[in-house]
Amino acid sequence: MTEPTTEPYNALYSPPYPPDSALAVYLHIPFCRTRCSYCAFNTYTNLENLIEPYIQALQHEITLVAGQTQPMAHTIYWGGGTPSLVPVPYLEAVLKTCAAVFSLSPDLEITLEANPGTVSIDYLCALRQAGINRLSLGMQSANRDELKLFARRHQIDDVASTVEQARAAGFVNINLDLIYGIPYQTLAQWQHSLETAIRLNTPHLSLYSLTIEDATPMQRQVTNGKLSTPDPDLAADMYEWASEQLEAAGFAQYEISNWARPGFACQHNVHVWRGLPYLGLGAGAHGCAHHTRYVNVLYPTTYIERINAQSQPIPFPLSAAADEIEHLDEQGEIAETMILALRLLEEGLSLDTFRARFGRDLWEVYGPALDRLIGLGLVQYTPDRRVCLTLRARLLSNYVFREFI
Ligand code: SF4
Repeated sequence: MTEPTTEPYNALYSPPYPPDSALAVYLHIPFCRTRCSYCAFNTYTNLENLIEPYIQALQHEITLVAGQTQPMAHTIYWGGGTPSLVPVPYLEAVLKTCAAVFSLSPDLEITLEANPGTVSIDYLCALRQAGINRLSLGMQSANRDELKLFARRHQIDDVASTVEQARAAGFVNINLDLIYGIPYQTLAQWQHSLETAIRLNTPHLSLYSLTIEDATPMQRQVTNGKLSTPDPDLAADMYEWASEQLEAAGFAQYEISNWARPGFACQHNVHVWRGLPYLGLGAGAHGCAHHTRYVNVLYPTTYIERINAQSQPIPFPLSAAADEIEHLDEQGEIAETMILALRLLEEGLSLDTFRARFGRDLWEVYGPALDRLIGLGLVQYTPDRRVCLTLRARLLSNYVFREFI
């Protein structure tokens, strides 16, 4: 086995482990006012009349899936789509259902995704009163042309005003999402976006490299020659510049695309990257627990019909609306655990956690691959018996991950 490096593990950014059986609960809201040009998420416009029956179906799905076992919910994450289109009493009703069927962790993180400029101070205050304690805002850019290219509904000033109102409503834990590597984006434009976000002083930032997804308006523009594809080398420069700036601004990069101030890592995503069980509820939501992975049916009306037709609880963790079900074998779970854990840059994968979970030594499974990657300076082995990506590997993570499949 390769000798460990001496680089210390900074536990400051590593939230404690919940019990292995605890769940991260994801609730999907598949409605948006308009469609952003790059978006490939499972979301629909002009279906807001379905919000009420959809919320009722979501409550029913929670009772069908979780009612028999009452596992602990460690986090709840409202994603979308645009969850902030849902009136707070509906969100509250779903959270009450969760409280009735799950045992809630005492330090439950409840995140809600929202679009800047679409939420009032009254709405934000009501969210806090309903127990939502983390807000994730889709800022994406501080450049007018880029927001226009993305067909975002908000303007640049909306981000600052929404952050300010969220703080006034009592939110401390706020994330901003930003996108870099945009067609025609210069390094200076990206620097302006990131510097604007840093000035807003939220404790969490997620930076995503733009991917031109299939069947999106942006892909059609690229196919028609109306838009150039992003330059990957420039995107890499943007990422490296951002890493340096954020480190200087006091953020820790705890995951390939995520930076947080101490204590503000997103517990929900960390739970998933640790390979712990998660439940996805709602149209198109994914779940993975008990060696089973499933994806719910995509279309909201079909989802509502399927859930409403089900009266008997179904075996945990399956959903009554599951369209795809995959039973994972041990090798599949090992590979997934490895890839997810390496995304956690400081925490990585502990050899002791791996042995506790699979009853095997990590080097016995992946020794030659790990030795090769350590030799290439892409993976490090730490004194407290963990393997992590090196600084150099952050831009080469897909190459590293291929070694474990
Ligand atoms: S608001 Fe979010 S989910 Fe809705 S279309 Fe835009 S990117 Fe997609």
